[in-house]
Amino acid sequence: MSENPYGFDTLQIHAGARPDPATGARQTPIYQTTAYVFRDADHAAALFNLQEVGFIYSRLTNPTVAVLQERIATLEGGVGAVACSSGHAAQIMALFPLMRPSDNVVVSTRLYGGSITQFSHTIKRFGWSATFVDFDDLDAIKAAADDKTKAIFCESISNPGGYLTDIPAVSAVADALGLPLIVDNTLATPYLCRPIEQGATLVVHSTTKYLTGNGTVMGGAVVDSGNFDWSASDKFPSLSQPEPAYHGMTFHETFGALAFTFHGIAIGLRDLGMTLNPQAAHYTLMGIETLSLRMERHVENALTVATWLENDPRVDFVTYAGLASSPYSGRAKALYPNGAGALFTFAVKGGYEACVKLVDSVQIFSHVANIGDTRSLIIHSASTTHRQLTPEQQEAAGAAINVVRLSIGTETVGDLICDLDQALSAATK
Ligand SMILES: *Cc1c(COP(=O)(O)O)cnc(C)c1O
Repeated sequence: MSENPYGFDTLQIHAGARPDPATGARQTPIYQTTAYVFRDADHAAALFNLQEVGFIYSRLTNPTVAVLQERIATLEGGVGAVACSSGHAAQIMALFPLMRPSDNVVVSTRLYGGSITQFSHTIKRFGWSATFVDFDDLDAIKAAADDKTKAIFCESISNPGGYLTDIPAVSAVADALGLPLIVDNTLATPYLCRPIEQGATLVVHSTTKYLTGNGTVMGGAVVDSGNFDWSASDKFPSLSQPEPAYHGMTFHETFGALAFTFHGIAIGLRDLGMTLNPQAAHYTLMGIETLSLRMERHVENALTVATWLENDPRVDFVTYAGLASSPYSGRAKALYPNGAGALFTFAVKGGYEACVKLVDSVQIFSHVANIGDTRSLIIHSASTTHRQLTPEQQEAAGAAINVVRLSIGTETVGDLICDLDQALSAATK
């Protein structure tokens, strides 16, 4: 981003978009089409050979989706991005070019519950595995990596909240190991954190959350920094050696810094088919236009609610990294100067029973398994999103049975506090 003259607020509206060349339409049209007419047979052949960039079939590329890809890549400071059908799809799409059967990835214990399940169980079907480590222990990350390790994975601000990763420190470890660092930046968004500037190789998003911002459509993205030398070792043959799934093309040699992005489209989307549809891309583009404005309010409201809860006698503790009492408050100031996000947990006196009563008593907060909505949301993670985990995993992920997770919206903050006040009374009486 440093060589780009425009500010974040300008780029979130304009990056990747231009008036429609056919009609002059100012807003990005929804190109609701599955296929594109070739100029002639030579044009078709050039597109299929990747000698010319253009549109063939919407499983691979679509003009509306392409605008979204360029917008997210620009905001993250990457060279390219691949949009996909969900955040979970993005995680598979990020690992797919890197991993072979019997390979592994070293991941943080503090992750979204669904990601812990995906990494502990589902990726084993591909012959991959994950080793879970406390990412505050840099030596443990080093020790967990072996010659079959192909990536390091963590979240910037972690879900269910209260934890911030020291990305520069983790990226130094990844660099020393010669491995790409993948950062899930869903909770921070590029407005609060740009992992590539802190050393990340790839950034993944669930665009379902803050980027879209209003709980309407599912989506994901993988952004490439373009900074990793895939040919420095023989660890990444899909990128550095002739790829049999694309008639022997060597992606790194052919596309340089764009190798990962081209592989993601030409092989990942082509063969896994986790494609984002243009309607969803449109909703997400609309959301991103106001990202910084919303994130400012999300963060301001989160700090006010967290401070109020921390001083309430019915509450045992609040894990919001934006509070001075948080063990991560120093890290928040140094690495997340625009705020520590709007997701956090708090422990209710009265344990499991009181938590369940609380989520049944709120009126403005919605009891849903989602985050990053303009609406404030509440959930008891241990009985829902983190239910598949063992008690030890729940504790390590910050989702113990006595804590409730809040995703603070952009409503009038006094109304949110009144709602929590009456629900806490009902829950603890
Ligand atoms: C929701 C979420 C995901 C999964 O994204 P989906 O769009 O629901 O597939 C991954 N990581 C984090 C941090 C999330 O909050």
